[in-house]
Amino acid sequence: MVDNKISSAPVKYDNSFAKEIYALENGHYAQICMQCGMCAVSCATHDIMDYSPRRLFNLVRVGKKEEVMRSNTMWMCTACCMCKVRCPRGIPLVDVMHDLKAMAIKQGYVDYPHAAFHQAFWQEAFSRGRVFEGGIMARFILKRGLGEIKKLLALGMKDMGMGMLKHGRVPLVPPRKIKGLKELQQIIQRAQALQEKEAK
Ligand code: SF4
Ligand code: SF4
Repeated sequence: MVDNKISSAPVKYDNSFAKEIYALENGHYAQICMQCGMCAVSCATHDIMDYSPRRLFNLVRVGKKEEVMRSNTMWMCTACCMCKVRCPRGIPLVDVMHDLKAMAIKQGYVDYPHAAFHQAFWQEAFSRGRVFEGGIMARFILKRGLGEIKKLLALGMKDMGMGMLKHGRVPLVPPRKIKGLKELQQIIQRAQALQEKEAK
């Protein structure tokens, strides 16, 4: 976890990072955050985030790029939308978090296992048009190594995994690729190209 102690050192402001964020598809919403904290008190995963969404937006404003990009906040967001429905400014925080994740991956801020899982999930979805859990795990292990799986097992995930297997929730055989997979991939690639063009 990040050290949340308040430093007495003078704050150095650097708005180049804020400009970078505001240029993202939904990044401009960070500008209208009024720091009320409703998102922080509404968020179910706030306790395991390095910074609450409110604090993350403040760090963007003061130019703390390393703190923002290396924090686990966006990776801990479950996209539950609770903050979005309660935010008095109507900020779609989930969309901002998605933009931050994409930016973190693009710029190589992928220290968190959640980043590897996120990439494995989308690579799997892209390659089949649907998600195969075994495929995600294989991609995740290739990125992070078996040690990460051992950590998950140590957290008591083994019983959950076995329970899911027993109830047929985790297929052992990969499902068929969807019809029209090529078209889907073309749509995704075109959307990515458009997003990159708009970000320039
Ligand atoms: S609820 Fe909305 S306005 Fe309030 S701190 Fe969170 S993002 Fe900002
Ligand atoms: S969408 Fe993400 S940030 Fe917002 S309340 Fe849910 S988990 Fe927290």
